[in-house]
Amino acid sequence: MEPQPNQFIGCDKPFGEAKAVLFGAPYDSTTSFRPGTRFGPAAMRAESFGIETYSMLQDRDLSEDASVFDSGDLELPFGAPDRALEMIESRAAEILDAGKVPFLLGGEHLVTLGSVRAVAKRHPDLRIVHFDAHADLREDYLGVKLSHACVLRRCHDILGDGRIFQFGIRSGTRDERRFMEDGHVTTELFSDTTLPDVLKKIGSAKPVYLTIDLDVVDPSEFPGTGTQEAGGLSYSRLVSDVLRVCRELNVVALDNVELSPALDPTGRSTALACKLLREELLALRR
Ligand code: MN
Ligand code: MN
Repeated sequence: MEPQPNQFIGCDKPFGEAKAVLFGAPYDSTTSFRPGTRFGPAAMRAESFGIETYSMLQDRDLSEDASVFDSGDLELPFGAPDRALEMIESRAAEILDAGKVPFLLGGEHLVTLGSVRAVAKRHPDLRIVHFDAHADLREDYLGVKLSHACVLRRCHDILGDGRIFQFGIRSGTRDERRFMEDGHVTTELFSDTTLPDVLKKIGSAKPVYLTIDLDVVDPSEFPGTGTQEAGGLSYSRLVSDVLRVCRELNVVALDNVELSPALDPTGRSTALACKLLREELLALRR
């Protein structure tokens, strides 16, 4: 993979040396409400120069204490989710097969499915830790199965029962609620207080995919997303959770999705997304 002209700050190590590799999926063609997440990865790269490479929180620096390559964005065909997911899967596979951690930047949440397909083929006992305002467990959305409203249900199709752990969920349908209550997935509604129990239950060895739909953050702090949902986690709360997941679990791949930068002209949402990404990259065990 070749060096890119625009990279996330501090993510400029050569591919061969990198332990983690960023790749953008600027895709939003199944978005159900306000679109614009296709501009998420580019906005994050541009605005990343407004934050430091150094994290006060962790006393670690992206340039000095991490080894990350930003491989740029995939050129995905809008209106063709099957093909887009194949391309995302193939990029994630390439990164995994080189022994590195793929870190996907969305884009809408459907893009997660491409990456999860690649990871699940290599780690059949994969677990997913999922932060989101929305359950994303619909069987279909208006008759369509490949939608950002169904992405965790599609992941469940691959992994089966007991593998998906959701936090911060505060929106969904009655059918989704029943799906949780029937024990197919483990969901904490409205909050994240059971995270320590879940960390213990998963254990430090099992492979984990961490997916963060940024709309899990309260819209007062993160208005730049297509489907805002009041009553969310604070940034501080989310980052402390995410640090624990990255440090205590065997995170083999991850993503941050659903930033829609144009919906927040103040820029605070993009700045939050950049800071969270830096903290995740600095907290990863590998
Ligand atoms: Mn969501
Ligand atoms: Mn979602």
